[in-house]
Amino acid sequence: MSLPSHLFGPMPSDPAIPATRRSSSAIDPSRVSDLPILRRVIPPLWQAMAASKGFDIRARVQDRTRLLLDCRTCGGVMVTRVFTVVNAKPQCPHCLAARRSAQAEAAGVVFLAPHPERVGYGVFRAPCGHELHRQFELIDRVARGETGLRCGTCLADREAEDARRIGWERIGPDPSARGPAGYRRLYRHTCGHVQSILAANVAWGQCDCAGCGDTWTARPSRIYLFDLRIPAAPGRPSRHWMKLGYSAHPVKRHRHQLGLPPEAAVKILRVVEMPTGHAARRAEEAAHRRLRRAHPEAVVPRVEFGDAINVTREIYHPTILQRLEAEMDRIQRERDDEAAKAISVPASP
Ligand SMILES: [Zn+2]
Ligand SMILES: [Zn+2]
Ligand SMILES: [Zn+2]
Repeated sequence: MSLPSHLFGPMPSDPAIPATRRSSSAIDPSRVSDLPILRRVIPPLWQAMAASKGFDIRARVQDRTRLLLDCRTCGGVMVTRVFTVVNAKPQCPHCLAARRSAQAEAAGVVFLAPHPERVGYGVFRAPCGHELHRQFELIDRVARGETGLRCGTCLADREAEDARRIGWERIGPDPSARGPAGYRRLYRHTCGHVQSILAANVAWGQCDCAGCGDTWTARPSRIYLFDLRIPAAPGRPSRHWMKLGYSAHPVKRHRHQLGLPPEAAVKILRVVEMPTGHAARRAEEAAHRRLRRAHPEAVVPRVEFGDAINVTREIYHPTILQRLEAEMDRIQRERDDEAAKAISVPASP
């Protein structure tokens, strides 16, 4: 059964908090004995009304207007107003939370709690580990496959990484961008010039700086294979990862770009020179696609690297080092084939 979204307000779990928007408050069974019980008669009509709506009245609590109810569906305990039992239909907050959890699971997220301030919104844990604040109604549509769910934090991280790789810094959304231009962001070039650019163009390196005239896409680039080791620290085991990526920048800048802790050791295993930034990006993305498909188990989950490294794209466990080497071979081979083709194509008359 789907409920009108205006019923999905916050659920104060503490009976001392007045249920302003909700008529029913969930009660932790262990706290039932803390509730002030009123020694007053429970009229048989109220019991009958409650029973017809799937509840049993256990006691009168707190004040003349409130009742302690048992939900016949889930056995959960709640405090509800007499008015709701007699004139409306009490909503069991435990059943509601269970429905929300199931709905969230179907949408690929974990339901944590109703949003403390925004009615109709919940707090969810995304697979990347970030918390999302979304409308329950949206989660329902995601669960039905009608729309997708995107983590804004991950998106911003990814855009920042895209920008760093080509010498730009993502400042934030372009406040003047509206409608289809909503994917515009403000970026600062290494020369200091600030420009509004479509995030997708930054991802593809298509941004010529109006300040200094720099054109990144046409410049040579490199694909790297890194070996990263981060020693153990209090509360964190040692880490050993592989990163395949591209950059136009000198190697020494990589440490800074990856945001690694000072104790991290970075070893460059392989470098393939690429003719352009475009070619580097294309080759890198294709390699990640093949690796994800063939070795999903070797992709390090984001929660594992957390803040230890400043990347949003795949990093891998060293178990597939041979396969990573093979990918580097393939990138090099394809680059050489492209170059040979370019030479052998006869000039058109
Ligand atoms: Zn229930
Ligand atoms: Zn995220
Ligand atoms: Zn510039």
